Amino acid sequence: MFSVVLQELLKLPVGLSLRRNRTYNRDTFLNESWIMGEQRSMSSKPTVDIKDLTQNDIERLVLTLGQQGYLAKQLITWLYRRRIINFHEMTDLPKTLRETLKRVAFISTLTPNRIETSQDGSKKFLFSLMDGNSVESILIPDGSRLTLCISTQVGCPLGCRFCLTGRMGFVRNLTTSEIMNQILGAQREVATQWEETAQRKITNIVLMGMGEPLANYDNTVKAIEVMNYDLGLGLSGRRITLSTSGLIPAMERILSTKLRFQWAVSLNAADDDTRSFLMPINKSHPLKEVLEICRRFRLRPRERTIFEYVLIDGINDSPRDALRLVHLIKGIPCKVNLIPFNESPELEFRRPSDEKIHEFQKILLDRYITCIIRKSRGGDISAACGQLTGTFRRAMNSP
Ligand code: SAH
Ligand code: SF4
Repeated sequence: MFSVVLQELLKLPVGLSLRRNRTYNRDTFLNESWIMGEQRSMSSKPTVDIKDLTQNDIERLVLTLGQQGYLAKQLITWLYRRRIINFHEMTDLPKTLRETLKRVAFISTLTPNRIETSQDGSKKFLFSLMDGNSVESILIPDGSRLTLCISTQVGCPLGCRFCLTGRMGFVRNLTTSEIMNQILGAQREVATQWEETAQRKITNIVLMGMGEPLANYDNTVKAIEVMNYDLGLGLSGRRITLSTSGLIPAMERILSTKLRFQWAVSLNAADDDTRSFLMPINKSHPLKEVLEICRRFRLRPRERTIFEYVLIDGINDSPRDALRLVHLIKGIPCKVNLIPFNESPELEFRRPSDEKIHEFQKILLDRYITCIIRKSRGGDISAACGQLTGTFRRAMNSP
């Protein structure tokens, strides 16, 4: 029976997606003895992280273990609604199922190693991963909203010049469980650490932390499915924002699925020369392609695409740039988020003066384009856009 279960588990799509990324910290899951099935003894440790599975995968697993499919729903509720981390505590599952699950799978968690609180109330969490790498997530309270900005990669392969994450290079993709565990870990802290948040739930997720979410396509999509799923986090697409630098092939793939979320697209320049200088990806996917695909987003009534535009002094902040931007996005239901460049000693760029920022904004507003200047949150704890490197640099530098 046990070897049959293993064989069936190996057919799960998650095995395939993990195998493509051999640098994972859970390479044991893929090691040859596991793939051959036979050499593993009953006493060896379970290697399937249940949070790497989607709701369909979990249902297949439960059926394969000879149990009723509806139990998958209960199992998912325990994982994401109640944030239980031991199978034996899932008291409405049959004991036999709990015992078998314990043998074939494990439940991973992430607990922040450090939390820093900004003067503006936002909090930065540093999570250490099993292989010694770290990622950061930022909790941003804003009125009735409690937004968590999460990471999808350690580093980023796209190397934008103005971004510290890009400057650190690419280390690896996060697994689905590592993406989900940032949310579950932060929610646990929200519920237990601070009186003012004890009764609150994280209401919005933004995939705008470290990394390019669409460069980690499979694991990001699976994580969004679990966020969407009503027994998972139950967050509607309106409450999930994915920010991309414009990876056209992956955007095309998303458009062929039913997945819904709020799109945010980082334009950051209004002509190809400037954009290619700032964002190397523009050389393979220039502005024209990016805007073409944005015109094809399926938006619900009143829904709009967000265009992000990092304003950098003397590079992309002139009135001429603003007028070009107006021309580029003409006819697209959108709003523009201007992000004044967040400075770091490692980056040669500067933030424009407030006067220039407001002048740029006015040009857009005068042409009936909704345009906000994004408040930089968490700047004093290096938690603002583009400042994430998976280390608490300030804290580590201090005695
Ligand atoms: N890779 C995705 C999501 C992560 S970056 C993307 O590029 O969209 C999230 C946002 O931070 C992007 O809009 C990016 O342009 C912006 N950003 C990066 N570095 C920045 C910096 N130093 N100052 C201000 N915004 C920055
Ligand atoms: Fe990567 Fe986004 Fe930073 Fe560019 S801005 S390097 S795509 S994280």
